[in-house]
Amino acid sequence: MPDFEVRREKLRRQMKKTGIDALLVTSTTNVTYLTGFTGDDSFLLVTRGDALLLSDFRFIEQLAEECPGLVVSIRKLGTEMHEAVGQAILSCKVGSVGIEATSMTVDLLERLIQQAEGVQFVPTKHLVEQLREIKDRDEINAIRDAVQIAQRAFAVVRAALRPEQTEKQIAHELENQIRRFGGDRCSFTPIVGVGPRGALPHAVLSDRQIGESDFVLIDWGASASLYVSDLTRVLVTGRISPKLEMIYNIVLRAQQAAIDAIRPGAVMQEVDAAARQVIEDARYGKRFGHSLGHGIGLQVHEAPRLAAGQQRPLKAGMVVTVEPGIYLPGWGGVRIEDDVLVTRAGHEVLSSVARDFADCVLS
Ligand code: ZN
Ligand code: ZN
Repeated sequence: MPDFEVRREKLRRQMKKTGIDALLVTSTTNVTYLTGFTGDDSFLLVTRGDALLLSDFRFIEQLAEECPGLVVSIRKLGTEMHEAVGQAILSCKVGSVGIEATSMTVDLLERLIQQAEGVQFVPTKHLVEQLREIKDRDEINAIRDAVQIAQRAFAVVRAALRPEQTEKQIAHELENQIRRFGGDRCSFTPIVGVGPRGALPHAVLSDRQIGESDFVLIDWGASASLYVSDLTRVLVTGRISPKLEMIYNIVLRAQQAAIDAIRPGAVMQEVDAAARQVIEDARYGKRFGHSLGHGIGLQVHEAPRLAAGQQRPLKAGMVVTVEPGIYLPGWGGVRIEDDVLVTRAGHEVLSSVARDFADCVLS
């Protein structure tokens, strides 16, 4: 079991720098990260010396199982959450309480201000998210598992592809296989884009059949033990077109250039630029309209981002996707996505689905 108290201690160091006496954690994912509790509708109040989880009757047993030792307050029937939180804040006698500006609602804040008179509420951003950027050993192992499960599921689905299968059926089959291999679910609704539909980076699943085009783009991932993977491959299901091969190889070179640039200290936007340069040099720069990658962990899109404007350095322990693409409206899209761990020595590509163009051709 991860040491959640260690995570909360790191958070306290961040709180000290910010000058707040306590932090009210309202983001469900952040509560999970700091306690191991996987239910919802529960908040965590972290003070300089303690932590209190505010929850309700429905979660009593789950809390005992998932976070033994954590101090829990179950609110009484008829007590609203804001009343319970207000009372908890008043009883720990703090002057200022940080709130998570990206998850706290205006309604809750207004009620808390009324409830906890004299307490100053300070909006904060990303205090917990920044800790979540650096994965510990347990988290890296969980991501490795999520990658393995996604890859096994893909291999089975790939081997069984038939021309009459639809995008929806393939997505459904990926979900089935992910569960069969021990995953909890897909980490997001898979994207299966037959032919021109692959030009929509976030295509909605349709009834279009594999046999209607010569290639298909599949973006999928598994969620297992709370952590996720996120991968993309293009499969050639019909005739091999020289244009597809040409574009595929540009994207592959772009991806490799970015992966090669990943190491501790590398500036995030420069990793994005390494891939973008390859695609620009091939005159497809305008057809790569999204950023290069994002962190994965408890969520499928989390900090950091590999994108223009991101001037922070990568650090060992970060896990990011590297997913350049070229999208030609009416023709289709090619994206290749892998999951990469930043290591002390450089990087490790966690995913291992073969990437050469020849490997994408179904025999
Ligand atoms: Zn993806
Ligand atoms: Zn992604």
